[in-house]
Amino acid sequence: MSFNVAIDGPAGAGKSTIAKAVAKKMGLIYVDTGAMYRANALYILRNNVGKNDREKMIELSREADVTLKFDGGEQAVFLNGENVNPFIRAEEVGNMASVSSAIPEVRKAIVDTQKRIALDNDVIMDGRDIGTVVLPQADLKIYLTASSYERAKRRYKELQEKGEACDLETIQREIEERDYRDMHRETAPLKQAFDAVLVDSSDMTLDEVIDHIYKLCLEKKGN
Ligand code: C5P
Repeated sequence: MSFNVAIDGPAGAGKSTIAKAVAKKMGLIYVDTGAMYRANALYILRNNVGKNDREKMIELSREADVTLKFDGGEQAVFLNGENVNPFIRAEEVGNMASVSSAIPEVRKAIVDTQKRIALDNDVIMDGRDIGTVVLPQADLKIYLTASSYERAKRRYKELQEKGEACDLETIQREIEERDYRDMHRETAPLKQAFDAVLVDSSDMTLDEVIDHIYKLCLEKKGN
């Protein structure tokens, strides 16, 4: 039986940084599921489809084959055979992913792939619906959150360090819009699974959060 950890939470809560660090300490494969929705969204953007053209998004999602490969702890996401890691981090792609991922037909193949990966491997998987839909039997479920202001501040700092022009208020507004869409959609909305441990990182340092989740993993593994 594989050992599965699920981490869900809103955009910018630090899921990927934390999951990556815990994966390393625990010897688990870190699976970033958002990257798969982003690859799908990239395909939609490349085909110049507007946010309201649902039928076209469904059609394109049938053409877009999204797969993952893992090498030395790093995940690469492939879109029809092309490694699209360099293109999926743009804000535009994240915002489109939060629109297209609300469509059930878009989610189906992606969720099936995620379930298959977790069946065969010890994983820590992060996303929005991992504890509720993808891995309802996960050994450990975490719901990681922080206030939208804290999350916007962290994102602002990241963008500034990269030398990208940005504005804190706009980032916070976009984060709140994304939260709203992710939490209020009909299919697989973002919510805390009833058996998930809530971790609010607003007043915690990164190391404190990593340590806390690492200890929860060890407890579950019985070490
Ligand atoms: O986590 P990340 O910001 O990369 O995710 C981009 C978007 O993909 C999210 O805003 C969400 O709408 C969608 N997503 C999802 N289910 C997941 C992971 C991401 O719907 N498991």
